[in-house]
Amino acid sequence: MTIWASRSSRRKLLNLKRKQWRVLIKELSRRGEGRRESGAFLMAPRSKKSLVTRIEYYDDLDPRCLTGNIHFHGLAFSKLWDICEIENLVVVADVHTHPGAFVHQSTIDAENPMVARVGHIALIVPHLATRSVSPRQLGVHQYLGDEGWTSWFGREAAARIGITTRFRL
Ligand SMILES: [Zn+2]
Repeated sequence: MTIWASRSSRRKLLNLKRKQWRVLIKELSRRGEGRRESGAFLMAPRSKKSLVTRIEYYDDLDPRCLTGNIHFHGLAFSKLWDICEIENLVVVADVHTHPGAFVHQSTIDAENPMVARVGHIALIVPHLATRSVSPRQLGVHQYLGDEGWTSWFGREAAARIGITTRFRL
């Protein structure tokens, strides 16, 4: 790989390993059973927040949360924060699925960030994750606090999410 590859990977908001990405999509599909939305939190070390090293699925934290849409109950966050504290990680992003190709945020999505911290990323995966997904097909949304969200799609989304066989940071 050239130095350019390593420079461009530094600009990504999130980097995931290819295998990790495949497992994520497969798990979101399995958990949603092709008929309901599912989701997960993406976690990273405090010192390298673009490097996703752990994924926690919503329904593992809150078994009743997949109701068609997602109703994640506040109490389940304490489990998430415990994992972060024990493993010295921070939640950098969440991901959830939508039916069809629409990866814009719903009004509910935009008004209810899973983690209301400036810089938090919310990814939306199309087709309930029932087919393979490239970064180009994602909705990539970043929380800006009072200013709401900034969103990227297509090539712009792909420029911000790195799926690599090896991390080069
Ligand atoms: Zn949504």
